[in-house]
Amino acid sequence: MAAITIARGDGIGTEIMQVTLDIMAAAGADLSISEVEMGESVYQQGEPTGISEAAWKHLAQAPVLLKGPMSTPQGGGFTSVSLQLRKQLGLYASVRPCVSYAPYVHTRYSTMNVVIIRENEEDIYGGVEYRQTTDVVQSIKWVSRPACEKIIRYAFEYARRHGRRKVSAFTKDRIMEFTDGFFRQIFLEIAQDYPELEYEHQSLDIGTARLTSHPEKFDVIVIPNLYGDILSDLVAQLTTGSVGLTGSANVGDRCVMFEAIHGSAPTIAGEDIANPSGLILAAVMMLVHLQQIEVAQHIQNAWLTTLEEGLHTADIFREGLSYQKLGTRAFGEALIERLGRKPRHLPAVHFSKRNTPTRFDYQRPQIERELVGVDVFLDWTQGTPEELARRLPHVPVTRKGAPWTLEMITNLGVVVWPKSFPETRCCDHWHCRYTADQVHHHDLVQLLKSLRSAGFDFIKTENLYRIDGKLAYSA
Ligand code: NAD
Repeated sequence: MAAITIARGDGIGTEIMQVTLDIMAAAGADLSISEVEMGESVYQQGEPTGISEAAWKHLAQAPVLLKGPMSTPQGGGFTSVSLQLRKQLGLYASVRPCVSYAPYVHTRYSTMNVVIIRENEEDIYGGVEYRQTTDVVQSIKWVSRPACEKIIRYAFEYARRHGRRKVSAFTKDRIMEFTDGFFRQIFLEIAQDYPELEYEHQSLDIGTARLTSHPEKFDVIVIPNLYGDILSDLVAQLTTGSVGLTGSANVGDRCVMFEAIHGSAPTIAGEDIANPSGLILAAVMMLVHLQQIEVAQHIQNAWLTTLEEGLHTADIFREGLSYQKLGTRAFGEALIERLGRKPRHLPAVHFSKRNTPTRFDYQRPQIERELVGVDVFLDWTQGTPEELARRLPHVPVTRKGAPWTLEMITNLGVVVWPKSFPETRCCDHWHCRYTADQVHHHDLVQLLKSLRSAGFDFIKTENLYRIDGKLAYSA
C-alpha cells in the first residue's frame, strides 16, 4: 500500500478531489491516504504561507502529495501554496503533458502531443530585486549548473522512459549569452549521453512560432522557468481547449506533488459544473509514479472512453460534437462505469513500468578563475557621457603596478562612451567598466575609494573574471 498525502483545496477543489478519490478507489488503487490542511483556511488563521505546521511535518514523512487548487489572497504578503511547496520541497521540475483529444474535444491544435518540462526553482524566480536609483529597478536572474544538469537530465530520462523520440530546448541564448547560453551549453553536453534520442536547441521565439505552426515536430520540451511558465499555460489551454483538462507533476529529489494546472475557479465553486479531468490526470501521473501502472492505465483509458463517447462537462461541451452535458459528479460516475474499457478511436495509454529517476549526482567541475576588473555602477545626473568620462578621477595603478583602463561606459546596456549616438536616451544609471592585469580584491577597494573621493555615488559593483582563459562577462 502506498502512502499519499492529500489537500483538497479551495473553490472547486473539494468537488474535483472527491470525484478523483472515488475514481481511484473504484479502480482499485492501493493507497493509504492522509489529509492535511492548506490554502484559504490556513491563511485565515494568520499563516502567510497557507500551509499548516502539521502539513509540513506530514509531508516530511509521506512525500507524495495530491493537491487541489488553492486560492491565494490578493495583497497582504500572502504567497501561493504551490510556489511555497516548490521552493521548500525542492520540486525542481514541472511536468505538463499537453495532448489534443481531437476530434472529440474542440481544439485549434489537433496534432499537439508534447510534454513541457519546466525548470521550477531558478531564473528570475528568486525574487531578488532592487530599486537602485530614481529611474531604475533591477531583478536578478540566476542560472546554476546543478539546476540545469538536473532538469535537462530529467527531461532526457523522461523521454527515454516514456518512449518519446526527441527533446527540444528553448532559450534566448543570443540575448542572454551567459545565463540562457549556459542552459543551452549544458543541454548540448547532456544530449550526448542519450544517443538514441534526437535533440535540438531553438530560440524561444522561433521555437514557439514553430510549435504553434507544426506541433507534430515537437515531443518533449525542456525550458527555463519564466519561459516555461508562460509557454506551458498557453500550450495547455490552446491544445486541449480548456484549462480543466491538464494535470501536472512537480518533481523533486524526494517529494513529488501532483495537481491540476488550473486554479480554484471560485465563480463556479459549489455548482457541480467544474471539469475534474485535470486532477484525475494528475492522479494518474501519481499512480504511475507509485508504480500502480495498471490502475493508472485503467483510469486514463476509461477517461478517454468517456470523452470519446461525448460525455462532457460544460467547459468542453459543444452542440453537435458532445452527446451529453454532465456535472462534476456525473462525469466521475460515467468514468467509473467505463473502468476496464479502452477507447475505440483515441489511442489507449500504455505506461512504462520504468520510473523516471529524480535524483542525479552532481560533480562540480574544476575551473580557473582570474579577477581582471570591475564594473562600477553609478547614480549620476550631471551631464553627458563625455562629461562623465572626463570627470571620472584618474585612478591609481593596481598593487602590482598595472594601470587601470576605463574601457567603456554604458547606460542600461547601451554603450555611450567612447562611442555614442546623440539619439541614445540616458538615465541616471551608469555602468563604468574598469579592467587591469592581475587585479586583487584590494585594488577594487582602492578604486572605489578614488571614485568616492571624487564625489561619485557607486550603487553596485560586479567583479569581472576570466574563467578557463575566456572572458566571463558580457562584452
Ligand atoms: P482559474 O484557473 O481558477 O480560473 C480561470 C478560468 O477557468 C475561470 O473562468 C474558471 O471558471 C475556469 N476553470 C478553471 N478550472 C476549471 C475547471 N476545472 N472546470 C471548468 N472551468 C474551470 O484561475 P484564476 O481565476 O486566475 O484564479 C482563481 C484562484 O486560483 C486565485 O486565487 C489564484 O491565485 C488561484 N490559482 C491557484 C492555482 C493552484 O492552486 N495551482 C493555480 C492558478 C490559480
